[in-house]
Amino acid sequence: MTLLRTLVWFVLVAVAMTIAVWLAQRPGLVTIQWQGWRLDTSVGVLLVAVALLCVIAAALYVLWRWVAGAPSHVFDIWGEARRRKGYRALTQGMVAVAAGDAVEAQRHARLAEKLLEEPPLTRLLSAQAAQLAGDREAAQRYFAAMLDDPQMAFLGLRGLLMQSLKAGDSSKALTYAEQAFRRRPDTPWVVRSLFDMQAHAGKWREAQETLQVGLKRKIVDPERGRTLNALLLVERSRAAERGGADQDAMDHARAAIALAPEREPVAYRHAELLIKRGEGRKAMKTIERAWPASPHPDLAQLYLAAEGEKDPLKRVQALSRLTAGNPDDLDSRIALARECLEARLWGEARRHLIAAGAEKPDAPTRLCRLMADVEEQEYGDGEKVRHWLARAADSPGDRQWRCRHCQTVHDRWLAVCPSCGAFGTSEWRMPPPSPLAVAADAATSRLQVSAPQEVLPPEPKADEKPPPAAI
Ligand SMILES: [Zn+2]
Repeated sequence: MTLLRTLVWFVLVAVAMTIAVWLAQRPGLVTIQWQGWRLDTSVGVLLVAVALLCVIAAALYVLWRWVAGAPSHVFDIWGEARRRKGYRALTQGMVAVAAGDAVEAQRHARLAEKLLEEPPLTRLLSAQAAQLAGDREAAQRYFAAMLDDPQMAFLGLRGLLMQSLKAGDSSKALTYAEQAFRRRPDTPWVVRSLFDMQAHAGKWREAQETLQVGLKRKIVDPERGRTLNALLLVERSRAAERGGADQDAMDHARAAIALAPEREPVAYRHAELLIKRGEGRKAMKTIERAWPASPHPDLAQLYLAAEGEKDPLKRVQALSRLTAGNPDDLDSRIALARECLEARLWGEARRHLIAAGAEKPDAPTRLCRLMADVEEQEYGDGEKVRHWLARAADSPGDRQWRCRHCQTVHDRWLAVCPSCGAFGTSEWRMPPPSPLAVAADAATSRLQVSAPQEVLPPEPKADEKPPPAAI
């Protein structure tokens, strides 16, 4: 580069010298007459004067450009400082949100909004700060404003959805979830929320469609998906029956039993429809298949109804056949003990109850009550009856339909928990051990590895209860 520049310089000097020599060899005079003035000079001097004028004009032009551009330079520097301050406020605001400091978060959000011309970013912070401060209306406004920006619309929908859930407006939440699903059907929380809300709203068919999307995109565990699908079909079957569409009701129940024959609600639904059609034998087969995995008193009663036997001894025999698949289970023993009592087989009833653990200190309530019945019916021993009834009152509990999500007990199986709104969380099981009992266990057993909170999940506070996730 330097060499090239030197060469150019030499060429220019050479050209200038050639011109100078050329002019010196051809001297001439120039005369200018203007308004009574007369100027005599040589051509060389005139040319030098013209060149000088050009240089001065160029210098003046550069100077003018600099002066004219100065304010924008100043503005640029000022704007940069403003932006920097704005971003600092934004960062501090986000830190305050993360730390749960509502007052600081709102202060920084206001400052960032004033300093930055980037509504998407500042709106998000403002919405979060408003949410943190409990100002639902303001948060709603900010999230709604995000919907106008294609980049922020999804985030806005999520905010609005959460707001609606917190306000208990499930129909609005469902609308937002549907919109979010249309925008991003691959996002796991969208699929899960939409499924839960559709199930909660009793839109079984739509929930099934969402579940299929979740399964296809590997958002839902296939095993869980299978069970949920079957439970949705149970509900569709019930709805069809209520609407007078008996064949549809049966078709749905059949589809459900093909998916999850081991689930109590599925087996119960299929069997009760079969009994309604007079197909008792088939109903018994359905219940026999479900019993090993899901023994339940209602299934035992339905089994006896399907058999149609009135003789108590034959009823005991029928139940012996049913419970053969899982003879030592608590519900197998209880079902048999009940029928033995009806058949006045006191000894058999007592044997089943003791085998099920009636004499253990933590005997379930039903075992103690049935023991009281045996004592009363066999010997009429009032003292023993009182003893067993007192034990029943002190019992740590029994199997009941319990929501896995919120632990609420229901008197029958429910697809949707009325307490927390979760779908498919109702389970027939014992109450979870109380935290105190678990802690005592942990203190006495060196091999205990599970911490109390792993056994009993902490109850979420009403205000911050997350939307239940069934899938
Ligand atoms: Zn619940």
